[in-house]
Amino acid sequence: MNIIQGIPASPGIAIGPALIFLEEEDITIPRYSIAQGEVELEWARFLVALERSRADIAGLRDRARREMGDQHGAIFDAHLLMLEDPDMLGTLEVSLADSLSNIEWVLHQYEQNVVRKLENLNDPIMQERGADIHDISTRILRHLMLKERFSLADLDRDVVLVAKNLLPSDMIGMNRAKVKGIVMVAGGKTSHTAILARAFEIPAVLGLGNAARTIKSGDMLVVDGSAGKVNLEPDASALEAARAAIQKLEEREAGMAKNMDKPAATTDGRVLSLKANIEVPEETTSALRHGADGIGLFRSEFLFLQPGRPPSEESQYQAYRRVIEGMEGKPVTIRTLDVGGDKMVPELVLEDEKNPLLGWRAIRYCLSDSELFQNQLRAILRASAFGDARIMFPMISGPGELDAAIAALEEAKAECTRRGQAYRQDMPLGIMIEIPSAAMTADLLAAKVDFMSIGTNDLIQYSLAVDRGNERVAYLYEPFHPAVLRFIKMTIDAGHDAGIPVSMCGEMASDPTAALVLLGLGLDEFSMSSVALPDVKAVIRAFSYAEAADAARTVMEMGSHREIEAFLSARVAGILGE
Ligand code: PEP
Ligand code: MG
Repeated sequence: MNIIQGIPASPGIAIGPALIFLEEEDITIPRYSIAQGEVELEWARFLVALERSRADIAGLRDRARREMGDQHGAIFDAHLLMLEDPDMLGTLEVSLADSLSNIEWVLHQYEQNVVRKLENLNDPIMQERGADIHDISTRILRHLMLKERFSLADLDRDVVLVAKNLLPSDMIGMNRAKVKGIVMVAGGKTSHTAILARAFEIPAVLGLGNAARTIKSGDMLVVDGSAGKVNLEPDASALEAARAAIQKLEEREAGMAKNMDKPAATTDGRVLSLKANIEVPEETTSALRHGADGIGLFRSEFLFLQPGRPPSEESQYQAYRRVIEGMEGKPVTIRTLDVGGDKMVPELVLEDEKNPLLGWRAIRYCLSDSELFQNQLRAILRASAFGDARIMFPMISGPGELDAAIAALEEAKAECTRRGQAYRQDMPLGIMIEIPSAAMTADLLAAKVDFMSIGTNDLIQYSLAVDRGNERVAYLYEPFHPAVLRFIKMTIDAGHDAGIPVSMCGEMASDPTAALVLLGLGLDEFSMSSVALPDVKAVIRAFSYAEAADAARTVMEMGSHREIEAFLSARVAGILGE
């Protein structure tokens, strides 16, 4: 038994035999010299392989669009564009003539070179771009070498896939019903693989590094996608524990089905709204299955994290409409683009900033690129005609910035009207409260909007001066810090004084322990990843509002996060059936 720690990328537990899919190991690149007179023939061979690859990718794109919507088709559109990249084609043609080596070798050298450069940038998005280049060049190589890739579409038994780096095309094409878990050498939480694994509800642990290479095909694995652990060749008791955990999850799912249609109401009748956070449109299925009352946060930037050009107004419109229609009349809050900081999109944010988290990000970025912002605003407005859509601006720092964002929205509305495009005239407008200055001026901001949503992921980071992605200072990242709780209370009170609802869509909203104090402070709406909904609902249904308000009063008097956490944990213990 050997436990390997990686990055928890998609929750849930899977048990199954490993299927090794370390793609680079089953392809050996031949190297030989060619004569000057053979260059043309070699290039013609390359063009045939390129054409076949184009046909493959177009097929995959059509399938992705059919099954999952335009957004995933866009990954392959980007691959098709890469195949036509004049820089790549020019470099290959010149290298072929200069080196007089076979085209497989020339292509392989080119790919290694580009991928290495991208990897050295130490930027996960650039590394992701490297993975895309690897994807297309591997495909061309296979056609050149007439090797058919072992197809994951033909899987006929349950497996845990172990790969160096599963490619988007592998994920789309694989027989998903047979893939019980995913384990990867590479990858992080925002990689395509992680996003797709969560969307498909397949437990996944990524970023295991070379430790993953100790796994052999057929080895029994237990994948814990919530803890980010992979147990290699578990002993009988570990297997037993994993089976029990799976059963518990299944029971919880079944229990959840029972609770699903029950309202998130306290024992004294206060009804809360519990919504889901999503990153890709197909997550609406999971949101509905987990009983979400709507989508409280659609992180639209994930549409922009695909390689290639930013999505057009039309493709964004299709994606937003798909989410709105997918939610069957329930409310959907679309957050405008939140790039920069820890979410870099190479095509958009070109500056190398010293302090990206305090820099050109989110609404600041959008307000400086009118064309990009107007495209997105019109796409959201047009989609709003198809259901209960709401719009939300991220990272608002104060009233002046909010005024500018509202003016941009008015401009987009005027343009839709001029074009004769319908939109929901009274679409509610909200903002995220995730900067201390916004919490401090929540009363001024509340007067201008229809709702506010507290983004604790950033609010904690900025109020405690703790980079949310830096493991060295992670011990200081304290949701129950009295300063954080005061900012939350200040925001809720300001919203209520102005007569508007206040929601929370940061990770704190998914913590059942926090639910009691948030309820007691008067939060109206919680939004979280779908899988967390049942537990938070259980806590809300277990208390009266009066009890929660009492607990909140006690907590607000306490002097340390430890004391607060211990008090709340003791109050909710037992409710989740641990
Ligand atoms: C937040 O900051 O709490 C939030 C929900 O936004 P994100 O995690 O996307 O920054
Ligand atoms: Mg945020």
